[in-house]
Amino acid sequence: MPPIRTDRTAPGDPPDRPDHDRPDHEGDPVLTMKPNCECCDCDLDPSGTDARICSFECTWCSSCADHLGGTCPNCGGALVQRPARDASLLEAFPASPERAPASHGCS
Ligand SMILES: [Zn+2]
Ligand SMILES: [Zn+2]
Repeated sequence: MPPIRTDRTAPGDPPDRPDHDRPDHEGDPVLTMKPNCECCDCDLDPSGTDARICSFECTWCSSCADHLGGTCPNCGGALVQRPARDASLLEAFPASPERAPASHGCS
């Protein structure tokens, strides 16, 4: 009769993972969170929900996005509401300080 194995450390077990008591997105690709509309150059609050983006993060305010019919004029992609980034997360993952060139125009 073979001995019953009682050790729980099987080869190939993943190493202990650190505790996740806060979101850990260090090194992950994150949204640039452009601070302005690329059409009318108005300010867009990264913790607000007024910004609209396409998959390339062309960034527009909600009124320009409505004017554009919900389609990005740069790439033809759909514009969706940019998720708000919580103020506490903006400390670790601040929005881009670089304003996008508002030269595309949307009218
Ligand atoms: Zn705008
Ligand atoms: Zn686009």
